[in-house]
Amino acid sequence: MSLTDIERGDESCKMTFSDGAEYHVEYLDLRLDCPCANCKPRRENKQRMIEFQEELSRLRIEKPSIEIVGHYGLKFIWPSGCSSGIYSFDILREIAETEPHSRWQQS
Ligand SMILES: [Zn+2]
Repeated sequence: MSLTDIERGDESCKMTFSDGAEYHVEYLDLRLDCPCANCKPRRENKQRMIEFQEELSRLRIEKPSIEIVGHYGLKFIWPSGCSSGIYSFDILREIAETEPHSRWQQS
């Protein structure tokens, strides 16, 4: 599976995958799933995830720059800080298929 196209809007982006599937994904959801070493531990348990979400919700999530990484993923350069996490195409697909924020609301 690979990403064939990504179009950036103001608050979300449209991703097209090699099987033709298209998804609109909010930057906040992508940011919550940042795979970098700083953000990963913020999701290790439910309490920390809730705090992380609240913190990000208070930030204005701005349109990120995108850097392609080889043939398997890309980096989002977030104006609010993180830029070292590599989102593989598989991770992007997983985020795209997840109902927005649903994970955070499960009790
Ligand atoms: Zn991060």
